[in-house]
Amino acid sequence: MPPSESATHRMETLLAQLGNRQDPQTGAVSMPIYHSTTFSHPETGHSTGFDYTRTANPTRSVLESAIATLEGGVRGFAFASGMAAVTCVLTLFKSGDHLVVSDDLYGGTYRLLEQVLSFTGLSTTYVDMSDLAAVEAAIRPNTQALFIETPTNPTMKITDIAGCVGIANRHHIMTIVDNTFMTPYYQKPIGLGADLVVHSATKFLGGHNDVLAGLVVASDETVAARIGQLQNGIGAVLGPQDCWLLMRGMKTLGLRMERCTENAKVLAKWLQRQSIVTRVFYPTLDNHPGRFVHEKQSTGGGGMVSFELSDARFVKPVLDGIKLITFAESLGGVESLMTYPATQTHADMPKDVREAVGVSDRLLRFSVGIEHIDDLMADLAQAFDHAQGEMAAQ
Ligand SMILES: *Cc1c(COP(=O)(O)O)cnc(C)c1O
Repeated sequence: MPPSESATHRMETLLAQLGNRQDPQTGAVSMPIYHSTTFSHPETGHSTGFDYTRTANPTRSVLESAIATLEGGVRGFAFASGMAAVTCVLTLFKSGDHLVVSDDLYGGTYRLLEQVLSFTGLSTTYVDMSDLAAVEAAIRPNTQALFIETPTNPTMKITDIAGCVGIANRHHIMTIVDNTFMTPYYQKPIGLGADLVVHSATKFLGGHNDVLAGLVVASDETVAARIGQLQNGIGAVLGPQDCWLLMRGMKTLGLRMERCTENAKVLAKWLQRQSIVTRVFYPTLDNHPGRFVHEKQSTGGGGMVSFELSDARFVKPVLDGIKLITFAESLGGVESLMTYPATQTHADMPKDVREAVGVSDRLLRFSVGIEHIDDLMADLAQAFDHAQGEMAAQ
């Protein structure tokens, strides 16, 4: 029996064995890339299970069943990007429907809701989901779903997933969780009652900043059947080559998550001691308001740390000063990246909205990689010195 089909294996084992012996004809240890767009029918009325690649592709199927197993769902679906995955899920809803969504949301999802789906008649209320009473108060008669990110991006607010599921169940609406930041290695929303999980697999799951991909996992057959129809109908599927790259990256997810979390924990505490830093956002820090909830529903803090500088004028010299850490968008890769959310990921959010959710002009987001911690710390230290030197010279 191929190891990935065993329900008894632990997460690390499932990850390492991803794709192994999934091609019965050859016994390949690395799942072959099936570029074929079409598949011959053995006879009239019979199919090998594969007819046309948009509908199903052997390489994609292995990835899709792997993410379903990892998240504890019934079926997985792979898309050309995280936004394609989110779009497919939100296509479940129709004109006149309403969603309740985390206020400090991934900028691209906010843009999709405000600049695309609002024109199709879908309306959204953004709430601070760390406040369950606010979530419940935002529900209207036409509300169809809660859409949760936890921790949020970039201010690391924590939402009680099981608490939200309780509210959603009382109102007979769905719970959808964007699990990009934690991955199933640290957090499994379906086990907490969520109906659907979405991922930008471009981030931690892929892990190497070399493949754009999205994933969806459904918790039951009814919603899975509808997502399957939408995936095939819309057609924004992940190509076989990218499916393989993603599986290749996922094999080391456990090791990478452990290492970047270890680094992030040390860096978060170190950042708290720097005079140039006024606030640090990391889910397992002692003073994080969501720490207790996070530790109840997740098994790790993850690799994302945000921090606020004491003066917005420090931002430019710090970003100019980092040498090892790359100033770039995105997150979750083995290489450390620094982002300035105000002008990058959250540029499409009006300034007042952005500041109200805590994305100030002084906030930097740090995707901590798997480099040696001393090198990361030394790079930040010299960038902070550089910034303070520039300011003193003014
Ligand atoms: C990056 C990201 C997305 C969008 O994914 P793409 O792969 O860039 O399309 C969605 N949600 C979160 C939390 C993200 O970080």
